[in-house]
Amino acid sequence: MSQYDYDLFVIGAGSGGVRAARMAAARGVRVAIAEDLHLGGTCVNVGCVPKKLYVYASEYRQGIEDARGFGVDAGDISFDWPTLRDNKKTEISRLNGIYGNLLSNSGCDLINGRAVVTGPHAVRVGEREISAERILVAVGGWPQLPEIPGAEHAITSNEVFDLETFPKRAMVVGGGYIAVEFAGIFAGLGAQTELVYRGDLFLRGFDLEVREFTATEVARKGVKLSFNDDPVKIVKNADGSLSVTLKSGEVREVDQILYAIGRVPKTANLGLESAGVELNARGAIIVNEQFQSSAPSVYALGDVIDRVQLTPVALAEAMALVDQLYGDASTPMPNYKMIATAVFCQPNIGTLGLSEEEAVEQGLKIDVYVSDFRAMRHTLSGSQERTLMKLIVEQGSERIVGIHMVGADAGEIMQGLSVAVTAGATKTDFDRTIGIHPTAAEEFVTMRTKTRSVG
Ligand code: FAD
Ligand code: NDP
Repeated sequence: MSQYDYDLFVIGAGSGGVRAARMAAARGVRVAIAEDLHLGGTCVNVGCVPKKLYVYASEYRQGIEDARGFGVDAGDISFDWPTLRDNKKTEISRLNGIYGNLLSNSGCDLINGRAVVTGPHAVRVGEREISAERILVAVGGWPQLPEIPGAEHAITSNEVFDLETFPKRAMVVGGGYIAVEFAGIFAGLGAQTELVYRGDLFLRGFDLEVREFTATEVARKGVKLSFNDDPVKIVKNADGSLSVTLKSGEVREVDQILYAIGRVPKTANLGLESAGVELNARGAIIVNEQFQSSAPSVYALGDVIDRVQLTPVALAEAMALVDQLYGDASTPMPNYKMIATAVFCQPNIGTLGLSEEEAVEQGLKIDVYVSDFRAMRHTLSGSQERTLMKLIVEQGSERIVGIHMVGADAGEIMQGLSVAVTAGATKTDFDRTIGIHPTAAEEFVTMRTKTRSVG
């Protein structure tokens, strides 16, 4: 009989924690999992899921306008925020219930409350002291606000989903995934929207051509883009509106200001020092290739290790870890270089592998194929929206090292293509693939004319 209460104690029932707990319990491991907020974590409650529901909502207005060119007139468009918000709440509650069932059916003990590490094999939840052979920290991250006067009047992604009233004028600050996605959501739902980003061009780290193309399309959808600027002061007015002073000296009147300037690992006051767990300067738990921290009995994965903050990455890390600790270690460790991802702006960005700039930096000699076109739907809709597709091919091996798209359903299209590219598909493989006509995606297998060679 083990000297510990549990074999594995998981802190945090989010994407990574739930997957690890369930997979371990399914192998007969004695597992407990603690959660102090909401089952399913960020993704289910204040992340991917409600975000995608709001993205769907924000696309209808454009769709209804586009329909007129096809002879379909749905009349005047109106939008009722409480309907969207409350239907979303109902759906999230349903998902919370499913997560609860998944955990209890798998045989895990679910403990409601905040867990604190008290030693290499010990945690405390409320008054309860619990011992475990291993502790898995999967506490995720938390959004930040800037240190400027009036920052308390701003909101983050934690609050944006449940606003009492929908803003007429919205400002979004930041140039990453959340800022770009929410600019599209606000604008699509009818708010006058401005995105303010401190750098020259948003979405740093993505392919430059993709970023430039996206900026044009996002602006075309009515979002005012203010680059090289940043709020320095926020004042709340008597009528509840906000006056935002920008670094440039300009002042904007808005109803809501959403900050999306990155998320920090939620490791403060978690007691990790009591187990000798080392953190980096951003507060992320430092782990080795096996997700083991500097304390051999404490593991960590997901956003708290601050490698790639995406749900499928947390899931892949969880499955690899559990298989390694309690299985035959046949599940491969995640390949962080080949992670397909989408930004659900309008239109979507879908991307996998290297940007053109990264390929050049790595010293690769590449052929670049670019196609920029107006999708068939828009020949009648009247919309000027354009689509970008881009392949980056290593010369010699002909291997596709980067694939990028900005256009309708880019996330969906990229998910399919990512299987081929991850498996090592070459340009020749793409060329010998017969397209599905008429689709936008067929363009990826019909690009025959090289746009340029670089390197
Ligand atoms: P989390 O899901 O954050 O789970 C951590 C859990 O631990 C939380 O439930 C928390 O309450 C709990 N916890 C923390 N401390 C304690 C404690 N001491 N005791 C008990 N419980 C504790 N990713 C995508 O792949 N696609 C998307 O479209 C996408 N959209 C996003 C949109 C937004 C607005 C945000 C904010 C994120 C989005 N993400 C998206 C990122 C994704 O949500 C995260 O990468 C993912 O949730 C990380 O999973 P995790 O298990 O590491 O942490
Ligand atoms: P990101 O890391 O994506 O972007 C942060 C942005 O904020 C960057 O543009 C950064 O600028 C800027 N920034 C950072 N600090 C400051 C500051 N002090 N003042 C002004 N601007 C600042 O973070 P997000 O918050 O958008 O999202 C967090 C993570 O969640 C993402 O990285 C992603 O992994 C995940 N996510 C995934 C989604 C998806 O898969 N579709 C959707 C939403 C979130 P700079 O580039 O100049 O540093």
